Amino acid sequence: MPALALLRLLPRVYLSRRPSRSVISAMSSRALDYLVIGGGSGGLASARRAAELGARAAVVESGRLGGTCVNVGCVPKKIMWNTAVHAEYLHDHADYGFPTSDVKFHWKTIKEKRDAYVSRLNDIYQNNLDKAHIELIRGQAVFTSDPEPTLEVNGQKYTAPHILIATGGRPCIPADSTIPGSSLGISSDGFFELEELPKHSVIVGAGYIAVELAGILAALGSKTLLLIRKDKVLRTFDSMISTNCTEELMNSGIDVRTYSQVRSVTKSAGGLELSVICSPPGRKPTFSTIQDVDCLLWAIGRDPNTEGLHLDRLGLQLDEGGHIVVDEFQNTSRKGIYAVGDVCGKALLTPVAIAAGRRLAHRLFESKADSKLDYSNIPTAVFSHPPIGTVGLTEEEAVQQLGKGNVKTYTTSFTPMYHAVTKRKSKCVMKLVCAGIEEKVVGLHMQGLGCDEMLQGFAVAVKMGATKADFDNTVAIHPTSAEELVTLR
Ligand SMILES: Cc1cc2nc3c(=O)[nH]c(=O)nc-3n(C[C@H](O)[C@H](O)[C@H](O)COP(=O)(O)OP(=O)(O)OC[C@H]3O[C@@H](n4cnc5c(N)ncnc54)[C@H](O)[C@@H]3O)c2cc1C
Repeated sequence: MPALALLRLLPRVYLSRRPSRSVISAMSSRALDYLVIGGGSGGLASARRAAELGARAAVVESGRLGGTCVNVGCVPKKIMWNTAVHAEYLHDHADYGFPTSDVKFHWKTIKEKRDAYVSRLNDIYQNNLDKAHIELIRGQAVFTSDPEPTLEVNGQKYTAPHILIATGGRPCIPADSTIPGSSLGISSDGFFELEELPKHSVIVGAGYIAVELAGILAALGSKTLLLIRKDKVLRTFDSMISTNCTEELMNSGIDVRTYSQVRSVTKSAGGLELSVICSPPGRKPTFSTIQDVDCLLWAIGRDPNTEGLHLDRLGLQLDEGGHIVVDEFQNTSRKGIYAVGDVCGKALLTPVAIAAGRRLAHRLFESKADSKLDYSNIPTAVFSHPPIGTVGLTEEEAVQQLGKGNVKTYTTSFTPMYHAVTKRKSKCVMKLVCAGIEEKVVGLHMQGLGCDEMLQGFAVAVKMGATKADFDNTVAIHPTSAEELVTLR
């Protein structure tokens, strides 16, 4: 490439902010433009985009490349969901004319294949870094007390004019001091280490991870109990979804215990023994014991990975939960330090971390001053049984933000044609939340077969500002469940 063209690629912003000679000499031999902490979804995407734009980038990673999503999140979870879907369809085979008997499930087979796939992905991420000439620094990064923001990894110091914190989060497990014996349980990370299908599982939590893992375990044949603090799961979702998903969990044979919390856990010969309190509002609490549990799984939330970084040395502003506070451009309270992804505590999803990381790279290394992620209308799927797809405002949020008189909803509930011949049934529910006289679609929520895949295209329409009339003007695809969304009355 001619020198002039190369120079044009080098944006003004980072030419002007390279570290001083004295700082560089105190650290590794190479002067970096971009130092990224965390080789997960956000960090890798940002580093690679920065490198494409001509920046000299390095990534510090203490664990396996790919972060949560690849190793203990979306990827192995989706493989287990696919496995669970196979198990569900087995119940329908006879109804479709394929009598099956004595079908056995081997957890080990799928675990080995899943682990091998994840390991291939780890290698692909390493190759991608190599190809992009991004240095991978293996180890735990800690900020030092040097006057310029500096990282120490395995005794070696590193700095750069731009430092990105993309350290993600980790699952919470209650302290033994709060719930005695709680450490006898596992988290979602532990779920992916299970060597065999538990016979009797108890999942604690009402968020999407609890719902997904309970669904997988139950479909594969584990006797599954879900303990939730209130009356429904997914309480931040539209109430139609929250209600329907709770019913579907119950219909699928999961013992959903509402208003329930674990008080203590002990180990006995038959497995774990859980003491549980059930306190419905306005009623006297009752106490019960759940015995012979061989898998207690806490899915009660995630904490940001900010503790070990020594962010106090930078004076970074954190919120009450320890998340890094950033502005809409992912700037932290300290100049030259940015954060993306789960560590910021907003929309904890892989594509969000990736998109925010890439846009940040364009801002820093391509002088695109306005490059930032728009956090509105982020579509998301929950891999429940059946799956959920949702984008935009819930009905409750729309009413609160726009006033009841400005919100109109369209809903439907039906049995998908797939179940026309099966004894096993699951519902499909759909809701459009529309705003104003033009009936702009500001929210779309659904649960039913195929809703996970159905959502992406509809999310484009919602993001573009489609109205109910635009939906109505689109000719339906028949016979599908999706056609219901363009024929709602
Ligand atoms: C069970 C489960 C299922 C999920 N399913 C989905 C899904 O279906 N779809 C979806 O979009 N999202 C899903 N998610 C969420 C998704 O995994 C996260 O939103 C995403 O991984 C966040 O990316 P990140 O870059 O912020 O952090 P991460 O991917 O967690 O990466 C952070 C990296 O930083 C490293 N690190 C931390 N501290 C340091 C340090 N001091 N020094 C060096 N390295 C450090 C960590 O080892 C890690 O590799 C799921 C999560 C879980 C737990």
